[in-house]
Parts: sequence; C-alpha cells; structure tokens
Amino acid sequence: MKKPIPVGVSPRHTHLSKDDFHRLFGPDAVLSRVRDLTQGGQFASEQLVTLATPLSRIENVRVLGPFRSATQVELAKSEAVRLGLNPPVRDSGDHDGTPGLTIIGPAGRVEINQGVILAQRHVHMTPADAREYQVVDKEIVFMALSPKGTSPARSAPRTVIFGDVLIRVQESFQLDFHLDTDEANACGAVTGDPAVLFRLGSVPLENNRTYYPKKRLYTEHDVLKASREGSLILVEKGTILTPSAKDLGREKGVFEFKL
Ligand SMILES: [Zn+2]
Repeated sequence: MKKPIPVGVSPRHTHLSKDDFHRLFGPDAVLSRVRDLTQGGQFASEQLVTLATPLSRIENVRVLGPFRSATQVELAKSEAVRLGLNPPVRDSGDHDGTPGLTIIGPAGRVEINQGVILAQRHVHMTPADAREYQVVDKEIVFMALSPKGTSPARSAPRTVIFGDVLIRVQESFQLDFHLDTDEANACGAVTGDPAVLFRLGSVPLENNRTYYPKKRLYTEHDVLKASREGSLILVEKGTILTPSAKDLGREKGVFEFKL
C-alpha cells in the first residue's frame, strides 16, 4: 500500500480580480497575507466579503490571494442551496455557464454574472509523487477516507470512497487531497487525515492476483500460462514482448505497465 495522502479541507472562499478587489475594499486597499496555503504562492488574506442573492446571504467569506484574472466563488453544495444557486462542479477557472451573485465588501459591491462553482475534488502532487502513485495529470481516481480518532471533530468511523477525483500535477504543488466542507463532513474528516488513492481497476488486481515470474522476454506461451494462473505480467522499461504475446496479453488483460 502506498503512503496515504493528507486531506486538506477548503471552506468556502473567493478569488478576486484586482478590479473587483478595489471596488469592494477601496482604491488604496492592499490584499494582506495572513497565512500561506499549502500550494505554492496561494494565501489566505485578512479580507472578508459577504455573498448575497435575492434568497439569502453568507457572511465572512475569506478572500484568497493572489489576484486572479476573473473573480471566482467556491461554495459547498449546501451553501449554494441556501443561496438558491445551482452551480456545476468545475475545475478552477472554468466559468462558462456558471451562475453569478452579489459580492459585498466594506467599500462597495460587485455583481458577477458568472464564476460561482462547486470545486471539483482533486489531489495536488508533484511529478515525483505522480510516478510513485502511477498516475498522470488530469487522471480521474478514487480516494478512500476512513477517519478515526478521539478528536471532538470526529465521531465513529464513517468510511467514504470518493469517485471523480481529479489528479493535478505540478512541480510547485504539495501532496494534498482537497475537499470542500460538505465532502469532509460526509465522513467526519478534518485537514491532515490520511486518504488512500485507488487507481481505476487496481482494486481486484491488488487483492486477488499475483505476479508471473519476472523475465526479460515474454512469449505467447508465458501469456497463456499467466492467464491460466490468474497472474499478472509486469511490463517495465526494457521488457520485451513478442508480437503474438502482446496481442494475446492485451486480449487477456494480463499486463500491468510500469514504465
Ligand atoms: Zn486545491
């Protein structure tokens, strides 16, 4: 089993464009850093705004820095419902067809006509982590969470397996599984809890199957034997497959690639 990935719970927040920031906080205001976030360059500012719709409002919503080219509001589903909005699940920055709302600051208000999203749950990692977990950028994986412990924030174990988790790989990233507060509350998870990454299809293989003896060259005969035994042939850099072994192995699903 690979090492677990720490959970990072993201409460509702907003990213502002520079223009919107000054409309909300005044021409001389400075976006001031209170705390660095785990991902390179991102920070929580001391500025708070209110989100408003005709139905309701949510106060004390943190502004994150640095500035973005377009203002974005990230909510948990239950918060969107409270505001009467139905935003889609989106990767950051993808605003086409998303709803807007009113943002209120101490110096003014801004109506945005799009930019409210439910953030797609995702794992940040470096290229080295991606090699370790054998995943690639933009791949969709499963993450399992089974928080246990005596902290008052948690109750009994309430295991949840999250699907549709987006892998995001960048050199500046730190290993982190980002969930919103609804997702975290569904299993009683708090920031720092360990989560386990599952690649699609990897569960039955890891549990029930063994590896075929390691060789440099595999023939059709090896593939047949592996298939009959229910074992897997590990294809690594330098492994040679005869053309018929390659065809049959694909058909029988006996290859595991580790390139
Ligand atoms: Zn994130």
